[in-house]
Amino acid sequence: MAFAEVQSPPTFAQQLNDELRNAHPTEIIRRAFELYGPKLALVSSFGAESAVLLHLAAQVSKGIPVMFLDTGMLFGQTLDYRKSLSAELGLSDVRDLRPRFADLATNDPDAVLWKTDTDACCEIRKVVPLDLALDDFDAWMTGRKRFHGGDRLRLPVVEETERHLKFNPLANWSKEDLDAYVVKHHLPAHPLVAAGFPSIGCWPCTKAVDAGADVRAGRWQGQDKTECGIHTARAPGVVSDVGGGI
Ligand code: SF4
Repeated sequence: MAFAEVQSPPTFAQQLNDELRNAHPTEIIRRAFELYGPKLALVSSFGAESAVLLHLAAQVSKGIPVMFLDTGMLFGQTLDYRKSLSAELGLSDVRDLRPRFADLATNDPDAVLWKTDTDACCEIRKVVPLDLALDDFDAWMTGRKRFHGGDRLRLPVVEETERHLKFNPLANWSKEDLDAYVVKHHLPAHPLVAAGFPSIGCWPCTKAVDAGADVRAGRWQGQDKTECGIHTARAPGVVSDVGGGI
């Protein structure tokens, strides 16, 4: 005798994803802010494409807390851009997240861990500081997009991790959508974009690439690593969220 397959009821994240899967990024951000208010954060690298999400979020509220991972290994141009762009957009709550002193002293006192173990380096410089900062929040927004390829091809608009709901307001947008938005709103470019960096992270792990190369081809070149680990589900039995480094 055949039994009908029992379907689990959709989770809140799945319901929200169904509701917002084709929505404009502004509508997604507005809905997230309406649901979570001060418990909603935005995580930004102030990298090559960051201005778009930051500008969109600023139209909803300039006070949304923005988490910026200052790993201690960023390009000076990124630090300058973080300051100038925040000021231009009027962002009132940008938080610089730095690695814990004890983690650096114990695991990377000479700041060379990236040469031998990039996963461990990302763990103490990105994953741990962000995990600690996100203790204060119930949901956060990322700037990931499907067109970046790899695991991101199946990126939903709303996903869940063991502790948070995650919104990806730009998941549906193409490179052309982003470029058009930048032109329309006169958003300033990260200074390294013109030097051939379509994706910008820490200086030891980011290289310039030829025009037309994959957006993330300059990240961790020569390694299997493609993501920093901040988007990796970290509890057994959890719905796996989609990988993605900032
Ligand atoms: S991207 Fe490179 S330098 Fe930056 S935290 Fe990861 S391994 Fe370290």
